[in-house]
This record gives sequence, structure tokens and C-alpha cells, in this order.
Amino acid sequence: MNLKDITAEKLVGLYRNRDLTVTEVITSTYGEIERIDKDVRAFITLCPLRAFEEARRMDERIASGETVGPLAGVPVAIKDNIAIRDVQTTCGSRILEGYVSPYTATAVERLHRAGAIVIGKTNLDEFAMGSSTENSAFFVTRNPHDLNRVPGGSSGGSAASVASGTSILALGSDTGGSVRTPASFCGVVGVKPSYGRVSRYGLVAFASSLDQIGTLSKSVRESAQMLEVICGFDHFDSTSADQAVDEFVKNLDQPIRDVRIGVPKEYFIGGLDPEVKSKIEAGIRVYESLGCHIQEISLPHTEYAIAAYYLIATAEASSNLARYDGVRYGLRKAGNAALQEMYRETRHSGFGKEVKRRILLGTYALSAGYYDAYYVKALKVRTLILRDFQQAFERVDVILTPTLPTVAFKIAEKTADPLSMYLSDIFTITCNLAGLPGISIPCGKNSEGLPIGLQLMANHFQESLMLRVAHQFEKAGGCNIN
Ligand code: GLN
Repeated sequence: MNLKDITAEKLVGLYRNRDLTVTEVITSTYGEIERIDKDVRAFITLCPLRAFEEARRMDERIASGETVGPLAGVPVAIKDNIAIRDVQTTCGSRILEGYVSPYTATAVERLHRAGAIVIGKTNLDEFAMGSSTENSAFFVTRNPHDLNRVPGGSSGGSAASVASGTSILALGSDTGGSVRTPASFCGVVGVKPSYGRVSRYGLVAFASSLDQIGTLSKSVRESAQMLEVICGFDHFDSTSADQAVDEFVKNLDQPIRDVRIGVPKEYFIGGLDPEVKSKIEAGIRVYESLGCHIQEISLPHTEYAIAAYYLIATAEASSNLARYDGVRYGLRKAGNAALQEMYRETRHSGFGKEVKRRILLGTYALSAGYYDAYYVKALKVRTLILRDFQQAFERVDVILTPTLPTVAFKIAEKTADPLSMYLSDIFTITCNLAGLPGISIPCGKNSEGLPIGLQLMANHFQESLMLRVAHQFEKAGGCNIN
């Protein structure tokens, strides 16, 4: 069975009609992993023992006519910075190699309760720092559409797994685009919910004021279903929002005629690949044909977003990553040496180049004398960016942009120049700085057959509207636009 052609919904229907057993599906999932993943390399850890045990139990429940959850028996992949009890959580880093989590993230717990079956943990840029998954300390994940190209990052393993059919659904995390970027490069759907929508309990912190867990799937409907399961208040996360979760799936087919869509002029300037531009313009025409009103809008502080993001994210990272000291987690080097030397050796050999660069940048931005000039200034810019969006959402309901300025780039093309890698985040990071929900959906391919992503953003906690607008694009054939 080819998981590439099957959706979660269809799978659950097949189980219900007894046309297929969960054990059969889990067996073919691992078969596909064996066949495909030696090239794609999406997974760091596989959990077949638990998966088969859960499949067996689920089959029994289904056979006995028990009511099962909406994701019963659906194979999911989890980014390896999200904790699962008794499974290793590496964050793609040597410093956590072999570290086994003592508890399970709330999002994973909720998926489990809905019947989903975790098949493994996926590769990522070390501590989710990157846009290509090349910063993993272990290996590079490849784009299933072209193995010489990156899958995007940092949730590259999760996106590549869904796109190559080695899982049906996946979780990623998005601090500055890490769900939407790989979704765009791998031709799948990626959703970053509003800040606070999904509990961060069990998500290893990178930049706590920006981090959100998000979903990857082949269709908007599947992501809507997953979000319905994982969103909602959790007392284990003090930043989790006590906001009602709408019936995302049920609302998908509500009409979108007269929805006002804003297209920010600042997102269509230099550096935007002409083929990406023309597909996004064709995407806009799909919305016109669906009766939406397209308006040009302005988000004037966009040009400062990269600078603000790379100050705030690195400042928070430098403080969050202080906990990896050789005492509390994973790796310890020079255990018999003096304490300072043990810290130094552990961090020196445990962290990769990009992580060190960010710790240095962040520590600098927070140091006495530079704090006001860099960190506080960046926070002020963040407020201005949020205000741009607030003003825009007085006039429009959703905002439409390309997800990235280009299609997937070649492996090693940008590794020598970190700045060029940072610049690829220009369209995705504003959403995190403002705490808004964002989605990337496929919008055709370029002349080389590489996927292009269209991004929609909505106001805080307007996921339901955003998903509906995305779903109807898909229904109108926008994903396969020529
Ligand atoms: N590419 C961005 C970065 O490197 C975003 C990463 C993310 O969202 N985790 O920081």
C-alpha cells in the first residue's frame, strides 16, 4: 500500500469498514521506511515495538466495535525536539544524543488519545536552528522531489516523511517558519497555529516567545483534524491560551465568497523568484474566481523583520540553551576535570557550529551595554511589526504571500553563507514575531517540477477561517495550478 496516496480520513474509514487492519498499515509503513528512507533519511529514531503493540490493541478495539478517536490507527511522525516518554529526544544535537525523555509532550499525548500511532522521531536542524535540515548533527535529510535538494527546515524530516509516504501526518515546530518552510519545499501542507494555541509542554525550548508546535499533512482537512485534537489550554504551559477551539473540520466548507484577502506589496519585491511570483499570482486569481476580494496592503516594517528575529531568537536561545551543561542532560565530557572545564568541553564538543554562532550572537545582544541597543530595539521593532498586522486586519480577513522567495535549493548551496540562509526566512518570520497563525499550501510546481508554497496568515486565533480559506483553494485545484 502506498501511504502517499492515502489520507488519514480515508484510512480511518477503511478501518471502520474492516477493509484494512491497523497492523497491516503499520507493517507497510515500516516497509516503506525501509525502502525509501535510506535515500530520504527523514527519521532519527524508529519506534516499531510500541507502534506494533499499539496497532494490535487498536485492532482489538475496532474489532470489538468500540468507539475510537478521530485519528485511530493513523501513523504519525514526531519532530525530534518534541518529547515522548521512554524515547530518545536528540534535537538533532550531539549534546542530547542518548537522552531519554521522562515525560510526553501534551501535543503527542493528545494525538495518542485520538488514536494516532507514533512511528518515529524525525530529523531537524540542531535545536531547530536552520531552514534546510543541514544543521542536524547526524545527517542531512533530502527532498523527496529531488534528492540533491534540501527538504527545508527545520522540520525537514517531518515534511519529507509526509511527502515521501513514510508517515501520514507529522508534528513539527515553528519558531520562524520551521513548519511552513519544509512544507513549501516538499509540497505538503504546514500549519503554524497562533502563539499559545498548542501547548509547548514537552517541546524543547529554542526561543520561547516564538516557538509553536505545528502540523504537516498532505491536505488541509487532515491538518484541521490534527489541530482540533492538539489545540487548547494546558495547565502545564503557562503561555497556553484559554481560548475555545472551534470545530475546524466542520467549518471547512463554509462559503468564502466575499472574504477579504490582503496581498502585502512588501512581499513581492526583489529576490522573489519569477516562477514563484507567477504561481502565487495565479493562486490569487483562483481566489478571485471564488468570489474573494483581493486588496493590496502594506506591512511597512517587513524589512526589519529578519534583523529583529535574529536578535530576539538568538537572545532567547542563548538563555534556553544554558541548561545543557553536562550535568542535567545527555552528553558529559571531561567528567573528572574541574567543573568549568567540564562545562566547556561538553558544550564545545556537544554543540554544532550554527548553535554556537547563535549562542554567541544572543549572549552579545543581551550583554550589558548592548542590551538596549540590540535586544530592546529588536523588541520595539517586534511591536511595530505587530501593529502593521493589526492595522492590516482592520481592512482584510486573511493575508496571502509566497511562503518563500524560492523553491528548494541544492544541498550545500547556502551552508557557507549563514546570512543567505537567514534571508530565506523573510516571509515566514513576521508571523511568529506577531504571534499569528500561518499556513503553507502547495501552489503548483516550477518548470523543474519543484513545489511552490502559498502562505496565508490570519488574525490571532482565527485558525478556523484560515483553514477554510486554504481548504477551498485546494478544492478549487489551486494546489496543482499550471
Ligand atoms: N529558519 C529559522 C531559524 O533558523 C526558523 C527556525 C524555526 O522556525 N525553528 O531560526
